[in-house]
Amino acid sequence: MLLHELDTCKRYCTDLLRYRRLETREVAIGDVPVGGPHPIRIQSMTTTDTMDTAGTVAQTLRMVAAGCEYVRITAPSKKEAENLAVIKAELRRQGCHVPLVADIHFTPNAAETAARIVEKVRVNPGNYADKKKFEHIEYTDSSYQAELERIDERFRPLVAICKEYGTAMRIGTNHGSLSDRILSRYGDTPEGMVESALEFARICEDAGYYNFVFSMKASNPQVMVQAYRLLAARMLAGATRHVYPLHVGVTEAGDGQDGRIKSAMGIGALLADGLGDTIRVSLTEPPEAEMPVGRIIRDHFVHPVRKTPHPPLADVGLPIDPYSFSRRHTQPVYNLGGEQLPRVIADFSDAPVTLEALTAVGHTYWPEPDKWSMADTGVDYVYAGPREIPFMLPTGTKALYDAALWAVLPERMHSYPVFASLDDYAHAERTSEVLNLVRVGSPAVLSTAANTALLQRDSTVVLVLEASGPHPMLVWRNALLGLIAHSIHCPVVLKAHLEPATHVSEERADHCLQLAAASDLGLPLVDGLVDSLWLTAAPGTPKRLLNDTAFGLLQAARLRTTKTEYISCPSCGRTLFDLQDTTAMIRARTEHLKGVKIGIMGCIVNGPGEMADADYGYVGAGPGIISLWKGKTQVKGKVPTDKAVDELISLIREDGRWVEPS
Ligand code: SF4
Repeated sequence: MLLHELDTCKRYCTDLLRYRRLETREVAIGDVPVGGPHPIRIQSMTTTDTMDTAGTVAQTLRMVAAGCEYVRITAPSKKEAENLAVIKAELRRQGCHVPLVADIHFTPNAAETAARIVEKVRVNPGNYADKKKFEHIEYTDSSYQAELERIDERFRPLVAICKEYGTAMRIGTNHGSLSDRILSRYGDTPEGMVESALEFARICEDAGYYNFVFSMKASNPQVMVQAYRLLAARMLAGATRHVYPLHVGVTEAGDGQDGRIKSAMGIGALLADGLGDTIRVSLTEPPEAEMPVGRIIRDHFVHPVRKTPHPPLADVGLPIDPYSFSRRHTQPVYNLGGEQLPRVIADFSDAPVTLEALTAVGHTYWPEPDKWSMADTGVDYVYAGPREIPFMLPTGTKALYDAALWAVLPERMHSYPVFASLDDYAHAERTSEVLNLVRVGSPAVLSTAANTALLQRDSTVVLVLEASGPHPMLVWRNALLGLIAHSIHCPVVLKAHLEPATHVSEERADHCLQLAAASDLGLPLVDGLVDSLWLTAAPGTPKRLLNDTAFGLLQAARLRTTKTEYISCPSCGRTLFDLQDTTAMIRARTEHLKGVKIGIMGCIVNGPGEMADADYGYVGAGPGIISLWKGKTQVKGKVPTDKAVDELISLIREDGRWVEPS
């Protein structure tokens, strides 16, 4: 079944308005099964050289202590695959029984060796038996079939070994390393990713082997979410004999705040719909740092109240295409909605708006020469609630007041009212001719005939959909699907009150808050349902944190770019330089280059494919040697490491994309 045939079968999750995990087949991985009734597992990958037995064992033990339930170790060749036996023996001797996973690219003989040793092997269909030279090849049906037969011949021996030894497998498709064959037929699409995995799954099932899981990773959360959904829909529609567990993750998410937000957005968008049996957070940081992040994201979705169904506003099914991105059709109201960038609203209802306070939300006032400077992450609106702002805001930034105050202001030119309810708005004596924000606490009010009629004819209303509690995404989704079903085209502000989870109190509060925000808002953002974000939190929460979170979310969802984007791999035993130091060094020199995407990949073997999304690539090519890429083309090879960052900057300069840091 191809994508267009799925039009009548948009279902990729069990219930759009209730949290339920997709029922998947239980897959045995050593003593720690995945899928079926088992909890969502957390896993990660070592970064040590696989031939460094002591280092790999020590790192594995640290990862397990941090909560890692499966440990993946790279096996670039047969030699490393054989050393997995030594590593495993030492771990068992030390009382550690964590299932080990061999990571395989390009080397069937390493896979066949490892499958006899460890509990699971990961193969990437794009490079197990296929090639990747970014060539477009025209295939006839028979030449395509011949290729499939060649892959069958190469892959089937591994399947037989896994079956014989009880070894599990991950069929791990990666957006950046689709084969030329798949790219030629399906393009660089979620559909190509799914088809690539299904080709391997058919070989497994044909051999009577069902002990496998799937992954569909990409560094772009939109693409990644669409691919997983499509795979789930295809499995539910019978493309496979069973519904197999899903290993979910955003690949090359980067580091720090950006990496955490991007990971939580992609993983959270899937978990919110019940997709995902095991998660890997991919950060360019020590692998132990990934486990707490994974736990916070996972635990965010286990609250029992999430399972409460939300009565639908309209029986609409899913009136959007969940497998490709488009923004919800809205009418522009002032600078909100339509094709305009999503806006950010800063909430100052809990504190007076002062000149100094606005620095935290991107606007800095300079008394001499009496001017404002505005950062790329300067807020678009300042909500001051019931208190008047005693000075002029910077040009372009607008004030929002409670409607009662706004109505009596002597000067209303650069401000707009916020109404507490649709009822208040409908009966107000004074409203704006340009923009009226109307808060909607319960989606149910949108379904009354009078309110529907009002919203269908009013061209000044922007709805503020408020939701808090354990599963706000379902409240937002219910309201948004209802708006679509009733042909209401008002732009929408999602207002989220963020509370860090109490059960992860050992974690830094700001990370918890950002992960919760990304987990809840990820789905409406990647589905193009958001025209503006308004984040609030407990009194005293730094405004800068909320502002950074809002702009970070919009950047991660690729809806509004305000900074440089780094697509950096987490590193593994193939890595040819220190990823963390190098990423920090490149970031320090380039983080003022708004909109430029830089891929930083540890190895040449898998690197160029994995960073296909980047404008420029910095890739380990050998010990002390870097290759530099523009998109998918290598433009400089064999650059000594100590000159590579300067050379990268030269490339950016040559393209006219360099600006001096201010
Ligand atoms: S790109 Fe990075 S994570 Fe991927 S195989 Fe190479 S070194 Fe390992």
